Amino acid sequence: MLDRRSLLTGASAMAATLAGTGRNASAADVDVVIIGAGAAGIAAAHGLKVAGRTVILLEARNRIGGRAFTDTSLGPAYDAGAMFIHWAERNPWVQIARELGVETPNEPWGSGFRVFADGKPMPETDRLKRRSAFGQIDRRLETVDLTKRDLSIAELLGDLGPDMAPVASSGLLLSIGEESERISARDYQRLWAGDDLVVPSGYGNLVTRHGAGLDIRLNEPVSTIAWDGPGVVVTSPSGSLRASACIVTVPVGVLKASTIRFTPELPATTRDALSGIGMGALTKIALKVEGERFGVTAGMSFLEAGSPKTLMNFDLFPDDQDIVIGYFGGDHARDLAKAGTAEAQAHVTDLLSQMLGGDVRKAVKACSFPAWWTDPFSLGSYSVCLPGRETARDALAQPIGGRIFIAGEATAGGGAMTVGGATLAGRVAAAAVARLKA
Ligand SMILES: Cc1cc2nc3c(=O)[nH]c(=O)nc-3n(C[C@H](O)[C@H](O)[C@H](O)COP(=O)(O)OP(=O)(O)OC[C@H]3O[C@@H](n4cnc5c(N)ncnc54)[C@H](O)[C@@H]3O)c2cc1C
Repeated sequence: MLDRRSLLTGASAMAATLAGTGRNASAADVDVVIIGAGAAGIAAAHGLKVAGRTVILLEARNRIGGRAFTDTSLGPAYDAGAMFIHWAERNPWVQIARELGVETPNEPWGSGFRVFADGKPMPETDRLKRRSAFGQIDRRLETVDLTKRDLSIAELLGDLGPDMAPVASSGLLLSIGEESERISARDYQRLWAGDDLVVPSGYGNLVTRHGAGLDIRLNEPVSTIAWDGPGVVVTSPSGSLRASACIVTVPVGVLKASTIRFTPELPATTRDALSGIGMGALTKIALKVEGERFGVTAGMSFLEAGSPKTLMNFDLFPDDQDIVIGYFGGDHARDLAKAGTAEAQAHVTDLLSQMLGGDVRKAVKACSFPAWWTDPFSLGSYSVCLPGRETARDALAQPIGGRIFIAGEATAGGGAMTVGGATLAGRVAAAAVARLKA
């Protein structure tokens, strides 16, 4: 095991020095190691600091914030991951933003919305059919009896028939990011609802600001968590850290891929919980479009809905910036993520050319494609319970050996899939760790 002294500071450096000389080989370097510096990890660290515990966060990326990320690589800023403060009535980010002096207005009305089919305006009759399919999920959830048996959303809509059921569920590709046959109706029903707020200066930027002042080590992908001794030993490229406990906030996609090796392996109950949760694939692609507005009012949204499976929404020139942002999800997003940036850019540019009717290709100057599905530190957009597996979130949150605590959006119950939920889950894990004997 490598010594990690070079990374340590203050009291924890003293402990490491002792460990290094063999005078006290079992001493912890720090009270708690937190793996991942997204919303959950940051919240857990603040909670533990307040409880008087020493904490080090190990983050694989060269930045903090995880799936809350304000991307400025094209010049104009946009949120490549989380954008809305959902269910604002109880979302902790309303208060955090207020304390940091960050504005969080209501979701603005757009400047108009148009629906297309294969690049052409959708005929009125088809648009009306589409509209009648909306709301079918909520209507059925109000009446169906899910107490005896969970259903997939696809089963819930089955009686609509093969033409209308995919249309009725297609919106889920842009909200849950997953195909309807892989979504538990019970879990979907449990999700909290409420007002949506936005963060004009960037939700990712806000999360990053909230992480200021914490002891966060970047570029430290954790490879091993050993819990065969009294505490935990967490290994990343710079060496190993001993602690009494660790909080693991990496996305479920990363846990399922086993890129972090647990020794001994995770208990059967935790592995079973992981098998009940998948990752959706909500994805954005941003194009820098310069010199032309193609007769479109800035802030409009265009929906390509010709095929429900490849539904794609475009936000055109939001805030009058030279940027167009496409959203898509499910298997279509997985395919484009695997195809890579060049192919995804070409596909989206073709679609836009059809819808806008001008020479979009010439105006597209650059592309940013944060493909969460293939991103090794995310491997999906957010967690989705499989049909019949809606108890998996709570099972995943169960402490392991009194010293490993899995937290993050996946363990957030009704707050799952969101930054607010991840934050609440991080706080819950911190409180549980703080209750352990020091
Ligand atoms: C396209 C998209 C749109 C979204 N829209 C919204 C929205 O509008 N509103 C909303 O509330 N939520 C939204 N979400 C979901 C939201 O972003 C997440 O639920 C939330 O950010 C998750 O926080 P977390 O701390 O649980 O995980 P993460 O933010 O993923 O943090 C986990 C951290 O662990 C790190 N990590 C991974 N592997 C390792 C390793 N081996 N070692 C060390 N570190 C590691 C990661 O780099 C990451 O920083 C969206 C997500 C996506 C992808």
